[in-house]
Amino acid sequence: MSERLWRARLGGVLCLALLCPFSAWAQPAPETEATATQPDALDETDDGGWNFDDEDDGGWGFDDEEESVETWGTLLRDQAADIGLFAGFAALTMVSFFRKSIPLKFVTFGAAILYMGFAKSQLISVVNIYGAMTGNMPVFRYSIAWYLFAGFTIVTTVLWGRLYCGRVCAFGALTQVMDQVVPARLRVDVPGWLERRAAWIKFGLLGATLSYFLVTSDITAYRFVEPFWMFTRQGTTAMWVGLGVLLLATVFVRNLYCRFLCPVGAFLGLLSKLTVFRIKRWNECSTCKLCEKKCEWGAIRGPEIVMTECVRCDDCERLYADTSKCPHWLILARAKLSGKTS
Ligand code: SF4
Ligand code: SF4
Ligand code: SF4
Repeated sequence: MSERLWRARLGGVLCLALLCPFSAWAQPAPETEATATQPDALDETDDGGWNFDDEDDGGWGFDDEEESVETWGTLLRDQAADIGLFAGFAALTMVSFFRKSIPLKFVTFGAAILYMGFAKSQLISVVNIYGAMTGNMPVFRYSIAWYLFAGFTIVTTVLWGRLYCGRVCAFGALTQVMDQVVPARLRVDVPGWLERRAAWIKFGLLGATLSYFLVTSDITAYRFVEPFWMFTRQGTTAMWVGLGVLLLATVFVRNLYCRFLCPVGAFLGLLSKLTVFRIKRWNECSTCKLCEKKCEWGAIRGPEIVMTECVRCDDCERLYADTSKCPHWLILARAKLSGKTS
């Protein structure tokens, strides 16, 4: 099979998996059993199926009660605020990405944490990957904002890589903000050999949680592999203690969960293998280590950018374009100067 065909098939499978009810915006038809946004972390009677809290509208104001007269006009009107706010957030994300602006990136983080996280609890979850495997798709007319979110995630991942992780995910944004606030002297630098091996853990967790779901049809394993429930502010004491330990460990090892443990990050990393617009490299990158040292995600190994790990944070791209720091430009400038003087 040609590489192009293989990539197209892999892309189809992964995109289908993403286009399923993985999050709060995935709304079922009113007449069917309700799915939910983030699974209800406190519902210990959860039967492991898709029986989420019917009262929870996922924060995006979808009404479970069927209207007597339903038109596209009323449906759009009902969802206009959510659609508009998500469109604004997506626009902010793309502007901050294309402008490679650090202040705008942190504004995006703030919006991701406050709006996508605490206000809406909209994060991609392994539960949504489970949904893909059962073909449990939300009904489009009740879930337009969710489809925008899912489509945005898929399209940006295929075009640029894990932009979702680098900008949109509320938990990732939170740990990246933590990274800026925590004093650098507290950090432990994970040796490269260990980092490369530990990065495989998340793929193992993804495989394990999907296998567990396939065998048992029980979705509750999500509680043990992801902390996104924290944005619902509902969790058992044990879950909060576990989260505290994770965040404390993140003080010492930056982006610990995202780099080594997150199954969703692993899933998006696989999708990122298809990335169309990759980060460019100069010839000098095969010997220069500046970008490799700058990358906080362990995504640069020599001249290679490892797309499964890269979250398009821009750090190396700013160096790449910096004519006063990047050796490529300095060599060019020196050659130009010596050409003039000779
Ligand atoms: S790796 Fe997981 S937690 Fe981190 S930003 Fe990506 S999806 Fe979010
Ligand atoms: S600083 Fe320039 S030459 Fe060095 S790795 Fe980065 S882009 Fe390549
Ligand atoms: S520094 Fe570059 S390679 Fe590393 S995560 Fe950021 S964009 Fe990707």
